[in-house]
Amino acid sequence: MADRVPPPGLVHHPGAGGGSVIREALTLSARPDVLSFAGGLPASESIDAEGLRAAFDQVLSESPHTVLQYSVTDGDRRLREAIADRLTGRGLLTDPDRPLVTTGAQQALALLAAVLLRPGDTVAVEEPTYLAALQCFARAGARVIPVPTDDDGIEVEALAHVVDRERPRLVYLVPNFQNPTGRTLSLERRRAVARLAGEKGFWIAEDDPYGDLRFRGQHLPWVTAQDGAQDRSILIGSLSKILAPGLRLGWIHAPLCFRRACVVAKQAMDLHSSTVDQAAAAHYLATHDIDTRLEHASFLYRERCDAMLAALPEALPEGSTWSHPDGGMFLWVRLPGHVNAEELLPQAVSHGVAYVPGAPFFAGPPDRSTLRLSFAGHNPANIEQGMKRLGKAFT
Ligand code: PMP
Repeated sequence: MADRVPPPGLVHHPGAGGGSVIREALTLSARPDVLSFAGGLPASESIDAEGLRAAFDQVLSESPHTVLQYSVTDGDRRLREAIADRLTGRGLLTDPDRPLVTTGAQQALALLAAVLLRPGDTVAVEEPTYLAALQCFARAGARVIPVPTDDDGIEVEALAHVVDRERPRLVYLVPNFQNPTGRTLSLERRRAVARLAGEKGFWIAEDDPYGDLRFRGQHLPWVTAQDGAQDRSILIGSLSKILAPGLRLGWIHAPLCFRRACVVAKQAMDLHSSTVDQAAAAHYLATHDIDTRLEHASFLYRERCDAMLAALPEALPEGSTWSHPDGGMFLWVRLPGHVNAEELLPQAVSHGVAYVPGAPFFAGPPDRSTLRLSFAGHNPANIEQGMKRLGKAFT
């Protein structure tokens, strides 16, 4: 038999594979004896399974041959109307022709990278930031430059320096209850970032899957809605935390030239997002008071966040610091000294509790003493119990 020639190797994207720690942490969360605060899953109580089942029933009985057919790339018209209504209601005057429906906000990030980034292009990000966005930019071959953050989000002076020095094409922000820190970008800084984008000429990606989950304080207007940002800001949203992540529905709202490029890129990726899922989501949004549901979900998250905040002083070693989120699902902890949260994880798991080590969320040299806790998935009693376990693991 002739020698067999191996097929060519797979493409390697440096920096794009950092998800293994999270995957491991999520695997641990499946163990029934572990109280896991690792995953970023919305509370199951916040998902209206019965209402969604009825919405699927309705659209499948009403127009089965439409909702089971191929459809347009832009997305279901009724869903785009619902999205445009919500955006306008929150201060971004728009119309149904503007949002492009995506397969989760995650696909919006992939589209953004596909239409904007060439290998070697620069993206500036909050340090730390959403891990799967870092992976997306790494896959595009981008150079990712971290910008320091504090309790009010990205530090604008530091961003201005990065912009002057590195000339990024894109600045990526998660302005509300950021993943992983739970922090919110202040109004003053939203205005300043928009101004800077106008002066220096860069795109802003404003990724906001958590903005509807505010449980303290006032909603802040988007960066995209600030003076000077409209022609250079891309707002990304999601139904994952509003309805259910399993629907895999999100949207991208961008200037028209950008939107057109995204439509072409999406055609090559998946033609369009699931027709039946979009129709059911649109039907659900048209027939339910979603704002009241979101108020309930936010109340639930506030209770859970407060239970965690109350338990942390006892659970964490003296000198630890943590964020105080006004919404969303995450809280960010820094342990004192030179401890490594990744090395401590097996010890935590042996005490029946799990978290995500902070290091993979850093674009630059990681602060290994950090970790992310999600308060969304457990009731206050379990949170108290979990924090006690964490306290034992850390002593
Ligand atoms: N952006 C951020 C900041 C997120 O935290 C997430 C979800 N974990 C996403 C995007 C992706 O959301 P979706 O489920 O809509 O794809």
